[in-house]
Amino acid sequence: MKRGITLCSRCFLCGETSETVNHLFLHCKYTHHLWRIFLSLKGISWTMPRKVAEALLCWEEAGVHAKDKGRWRVIPRAIWWAVWKERNSRRFESIENNVQKLN
Ligand SMILES: [Zn+2]
Repeated sequence: MKRGITLCSRCFLCGETSETVNHLFLHCKYTHHLWRIFLSLKGISWTMPRKVAEALLCWEEAGVHAKDKGRWRVIPRAIWWAVWKERNSRRFESIENNVQKLN
């Protein structure tokens, strides 16, 4: 797409918009649901940043007082791994898992 080639790159999770890194890992309604689960479990008030890099910085700041920083840092990566696996499952195997199954 960066080279001017027209590709049909709808998000494989929601199908509502084009698939970008920031959409897939932050703003897709499917991904957003996973984030909400973790945020509500931790009781965190969170406004999702626009970009993945900003999300990582904000997450680090939010976890500055976390007891176990290693566990804290794993959370976004775990969400993104689950999202990536689901994306690829839908893309390459035509298998859709309910978001509840990913918890
Ligand atoms: Zn989406």
